[in-house]
Amino acid sequence: IKDHYDVVIIGSGGAGLTSAIQAYELGLSPVILEKMDKLGGNTTRASSGMNAAETFVQLDHHIVDSFEDFYNETFIGGGKMNNPELLKFFTEHGALAIDWLDQHGIKLDDLTITGGMKTERTHRPSSLAPIGGYLVTELLKYIAKDQIPLFDNIKVTELLTDNGKITGIKATADKDITIKTDAVVLATGGFGAGKDLLAEYRSDLLNLRTTNQPGATGDGLKLAQKVGAKLVDMDQVQVHPTVQQDTPHAFLIGEAVRGEGAILINNDGQRFVNELDTRKNVTAAIDNLGGTGAYLIFDRDIRDRVKAIEFYDHIGLVTTGQTVAELAEEIHVEKQALQQTVKDWNVAVDNQDDKWFARTTGMERDISDGPFYAIHVAPAVHYTMGGVAINHKTQVLNEKNQVINGLFAAGEVAGGLHGNNRIGGNSIAETVVFGRQAGQQAYKYLKG
Ligand code: ADP
Repeated sequence: IKDHYDVVIIGSGGAGLTSAIQAYELGLSPVILEKMDKLGGNTTRASSGMNAAETFVQLDHHIVDSFEDFYNETFIGGGKMNNPELLKFFTEHGALAIDWLDQHGIKLDDLTITGGMKTERTHRPSSLAPIGGYLVTELLKYIAKDQIPLFDNIKVTELLTDNGKITGIKATADKDITIKTDAVVLATGGFGAGKDLLAEYRSDLLNLRTTNQPGATGDGLKLAQKVGAKLVDMDQVQVHPTVQQDTPHAFLIGEAVRGEGAILINNDGQRFVNELDTRKNVTAAIDNLGGTGAYLIFDRDIRDRVKAIEFYDHIGLVTTGQTVAELAEEIHVEKQALQQTVKDWNVAVDNQDDKWFARTTGMERDISDGPFYAIHVAPAVHYTMGGVAINHKTQVLNEKNQVINGLFAAGEVAGGLHGNNRIGGNSIAETVVFGRQAGQQAYKYLKG
């Protein structure tokens, strides 16, 4: 490791890897520092896809979308609390980000839909594999090809400034190190696994499990705050509704399962919510069941559309029945009730009319193609919408909304884009859109 780089990128998730490649391609010498021994952060756990509007992929599927719809649906889903400047940049640069990935051999040719969205704009690999692992693996190939230095097991502990400008960082590895640099990109992710920050901002959630990797402790927020950064929306923590947590590990069951047609039922074998309402509303509906959790119900056809289910099944999280009645028995709900629910749902799909919960999306497939499957799910802490204040150039802002020179932030560490509820598919999109932007703006700052 050298004692100087043009730009130090902290974190090896989607935002960090993207900004490093972008900075490198502009001619900078970046370094990526990752505190864990596993690379990829929470990004590796992302399952749904990447949202973007007006893409070539959408046109190939005969879907005519608009930046405006993408903006409005995200804004409504986020309780109209989204930072408009960030949201505008985000919705208008998703298509470019998809193209940029495509140029780098990363193909997201299939589409699905997530809760709160009205049109299919969640791009995913045509292998139907979960997006996160795919994205990180492919970006790491570029990092290797370009020989961009990346070090694991190095934890950044301090940002160094002089006269309000970034001058370097301190980190701990085997020994303490100091690196000189004029630009830092914070790509450290959120604090879903950070008990101290949760205790400070959302102590009501402390007893919930989390889908996050153990390194998601909000380091970037603390580092930035110490050099004067403003934090925004810190109490906005997303609880994901459909997490399988009957084993020691909490497994997020991606929204694609609902997007492709699964329904949610309660212990009485009945639906209780529009399954593709926002995560916030679906979580509230499951909480209202009184702590029992809920079951995702789907058939073979839907299963085939979501590759991750194979893995969930392999590790024992999926219950199977050859018939709906047999499935009901396996999960101890009343046979007739579940049969009736599935029958009613299939009529709703046929008529494209959900009389009960007004669901309008994820209704391409009914549930008629055995075997039938169930996954037990309940809410868990998933994503922290709050974070470091940035402008659309990813420049970090202080309490007076002034730029802190040389400090950039991208990805979950930054706050404001999602308002009070992040839409599924928007976090991968955020890492690529703002990761690229951070690489570009670091270049402009240093060489412009
Ligand atoms: P994003 O989706 O925004 O890219 P991720 O959670 O995928 O965020 O990745 C963030 C990465 O940053 C994780 O791998 C995490 O371990 C790493 N990280 C967090 N804090 C530090 C730190 N202090 N020093 C180095 N790496 C860090």
